[in-house]
Formats: sequence, structure tokens, C-alpha cells
Amino acid sequence: AAQEGFDLEDIAGALEEANAGPLPVLAVVGRPNVGKSTLVNRIIGRREAVVQDKPGVTRDRVSYEAEWAGRRFKVMDTGGWEQDVLGLDASVAAQAEYAIETADAVVFVVDSTVGATDTDEAVVRLLRKAKKPVVLCANKVDGLSGEADATALWSLGLGEPHPVSSLHGRGTGDMLDAVLEALPEAPAQTFGSGTPLGGPRRIALIGRPNVGKSSLLNKVAKEDRVVVNELAGTTRDPVDELINLGGTTWKFIDTAGIRRRVHLQEGADYYASLRTAAALEKAEVAVILIDSSESISVQDQRIVTMAVEAGRAMVLAFNKWDTLDEERRYYLEREIETELGQVAWAPRVNVSALTGRHMEKLVPAIETALDGWETRVPTGRLNAFLGELVAAHPHPVRGGKQPRILFGTQAGAKPPRFVLFASGFLEAGYRRFVERRLREEFGFEGTPIHISVRVRE
Ligand code: GDP
Ligand code: GDP
Repeated sequence: AAQEGFDLEDIAGALEEANAGPLPVLAVVGRPNVGKSTLVNRIIGRREAVVQDKPGVTRDRVSYEAEWAGRRFKVMDTGGWEQDVLGLDASVAAQAEYAIETADAVVFVVDSTVGATDTDEAVVRLLRKAKKPVVLCANKVDGLSGEADATALWSLGLGEPHPVSSLHGRGTGDMLDAVLEALPEAPAQTFGSGTPLGGPRRIALIGRPNVGKSSLLNKVAKEDRVVVNELAGTTRDPVDELINLGGTTWKFIDTAGIRRRVHLQEGADYYASLRTAAALEKAEVAVILIDSSESISVQDQRIVTMAVEAGRAMVLAFNKWDTLDEERRYYLEREIETELGQVAWAPRVNVSALTGRHMEKLVPAIETALDGWETRVPTGRLNAFLGELVAAHPHPVRGGKQPRILFGTQAGAKPPRFVLFASGFLEAGYRRFVERRLREEFGFEGTPIHISVRVRE
């Protein structure tokens, strides 16, 4: 039956949208200057994004949400390396590597006015090995006269070249249709919408360079390393590692990438961002390492934001605790309040990868965060809570009207997603208040929560 002015279709639609689960990932790869960023901008339909006016400036955002023909997916821009930072071949190889590991499908962009270069051919070989679906974008076909150049790219052996002008939009629709055909409905690693994946829980150990990630990994992995083949149902993935902690086997994502240290100037930041984004895609919980001996930086905050946006459970591990004197400890606490206030819900451990201090607290914190992440609040309990909340703390009257939360439901978990149905627009301040009260009531320690509001027409 219709509820307070919402018909069933409204409600079902809202639930479906809120519980869309993880999105499939499309990687855009190719040499520098072939037009990857222009294409990504075109796909996500916003100008906000990626094209940099200043060459050599590192981009820190690598993943964007996009929608085409009613289907949503993530686009990963791998164009952040400048050729002179990493070297051309290393740069495109690294991109392809990430595309291979993370994406569900790849758009390979070639500049059709230049034709296929040796570097392009090298990328094709990498893509072939990856066995992921590839859509070939013959870019810079701005008019009919360019179509012949596009046809020449059949020689790459990747199937039909799609003639596209990313700059003007020509052909992008047809290419995106092909992308949707290539892209699975859900990412390979589905865990968001119900069925548990089974196997060990997946941890992304992330943090800016030098915070102590590889030291921590070495500490926890010292003994008890699990032989991959011994565990049924685990696939051999040389970049991940199974580590026994506190009697449980955990899968640490991309340990190879953590140990393989990249020492470069500007390129390193971008490389690190891309690796972080890739690890978050595959993980359930992020352990974010922060160097307690240094001020909390913009880069630390950016990593925290990436984990929140990825919707992962989160633990904050303050490393190098052995180095702290009283004064630094005082300032660190202040910094945590001001710089990390938005994730005050994340469990925190103060550790030292050097001395092993409080390593035993890591697992309980991770378990707490995963519990919060998986929490499901029964609809009855939620509505009893909402009823009391609305009665005790009504929304302020605005323009003679008083918007009211009518009812709500949890549309999904991992992380928890709520849909509230309201009689009018709820102000941001009131939404934040509702979120705070939800957290006080139900916990949600260590997890971001999403609240969307549907307003009765
Ligand atoms: P990226 O390095 O692969 O990300 O390449 P960019 O997106 O930064 O584009 C490199 C240059 O090619 C820029 O000057 C773009 O304006 C230009 N460009 C990109 N797409 C097209 C296109 O479809 N047609 C033309 N004529 N130029 C393009
Ligand atoms: P990564 O770049 O995040 O993998 O960081 P590393 O593990 O390579 O560590 C960077 C530096 O910090 C190295 O010199 C480590 O020895 C040092 N380090 C790591 N953890 C600790 C710690 O808990 N205490 C102290 N004093 N030094 C640490």
C-alpha cells in the first residue's frame, strides 16, 4: 500500500538507487596526449575534472562516477603520469598494469592522426595478457576525413576501432554503447549487495609514502605466512598476500605495490594515488597509516577522503608512536580533532611498526570496523527510532512549513545506506543531526554511512 504519499514505485526506485552496490570500473589507458583526459571529461559529462592546463602537475583524483544509457560505472583516469617523470614506456606499462588489476573493462585510446606507435603496440601486448574486455578508441577523428585513419587501427588486432572526437563529442555515444556491452553489470569482486564473497577478509593498508606501510607489513607478516595454494577457494594473485593475524587469515591487498618503493618526485604522488584507489576497490576495510611524528597533512586527509568515498570500513593507525614526546602528543591530539574530525567514527590504534607496540590492537579494531560496516538495522527498529527523534527534535519551521521525516529504511549495507522519506526538503544541518543520532543509537563504528532523502512531490 502507498505510504504517506509515496507510492510503491517511488519507494522501490529509491531503494534500488541507494543499494546499487559497487560499480563496475572502466579504465582509460593510452599514451600521453592521445586525449585520455578529454575523453574522461566527455564520459563523465563535467568540466570540473581532469584536464590540467599546466603540464607536469600531478592529478590526485583518479576515479570518477559516470552514467550512460541509465547504467552507472566508475571511470579511472590513468593519465596522470607525465612522460618525462617516469619515462614513456614505464609510464604506459604502469597504467596498463593497474587497468589489468582493477578494471572490469578498458578503453584503449589511440591518436588516429598519429597512427599506432611502437608504444601503442606494447600496450596492446599488455592488454592481451590481461584478458579484460578492451574497447579501442580511435581518437581525434574530428570529421569524416579522419575515418580512414581510424580504419587503419584494425591493424592493432583489438577489433573494431571506434572513431571518436573526444574534443567535439563525435562518435562518443557509439563508443560508450560498446563500452556498456563490454562492461559487466557488477564488478568482479562483488560484495556490496548481499552475497558474501567468502574467503579471507580483504584489507587495504594505505597511507602516504614513508608512514611505515612496508615496515608494518613486515612486522605482521613475520611469521605465519599462509601458502596460497593451501587455502581452498583462493585465487593466486601475486600482488596480494595472505597473512595470519590474531588467529584469522586476512588478505592484504597489493602488498607487492607496498613493498615496491617508487622513488620519484611528482610522479610518485600520482602513482601512490592510483595504487591507493586500486587497493580500495578490492578491499573491504582500509587501514590508514598516519605518521604520528609529523603534522597531519593534506595528503593524509586526501587518502582518508578516498577511503570514505570508496565506502570502505576504516581504521586509523597512528604509527611511529615510539618517537612521540609529550609535546608532540599534545599537538597530535589537537590535529586529529581539527584535521580528521570528519572520521571521528573510525577506531584508532596507536602503534609502532618498529617496536611492535599495540600490534595486537589492530585486529580488534579491524573487526569493529567491519562489524559497523555490515550493520543492518531492522526497519521496525529504525522507524521506532525515527519516530522518537522527530517527536523530540522536529525540523525547524521554514517559510511556514515544517518538513518531517515520515519513515525510513536501510536500503543496504557495506557500508550502511539509508533512505529517508520526508514531507519536505531537509536542511543539511538537520541531516547531519540525524546522522549523528543514528550513530549514537546504532554504533556504525568504523564505517561511513550514506543517507539519502526522498521528498514527497
Ligand atoms: P592525455 O594526455 O591522453 O590525457 O590527453 P589530453 O586529453 O590532455 O589531450 C591532449 C591534447 O589533444 C589536448 O590538446 C586536447 O585538446 C587534444 N585532443 C583531445 N581529444 C581530441 C580530439 O578528439 N580532437 C582533437 N583535434 N584534439 C583532441
Ligand atoms: P612506507 O613508504 O609507508 O612503506 O614506509 P616504510 O615502511 O618504508 O617506512 C619509512 C621509514 O619509517 C623507514 O625508515 C622506517 O624504518 C621508518 N619507520 C616505520 N615505522 C616506524 C615506527 O613505528 N617507528 C619509527 N621510529 N620508525 C618507523
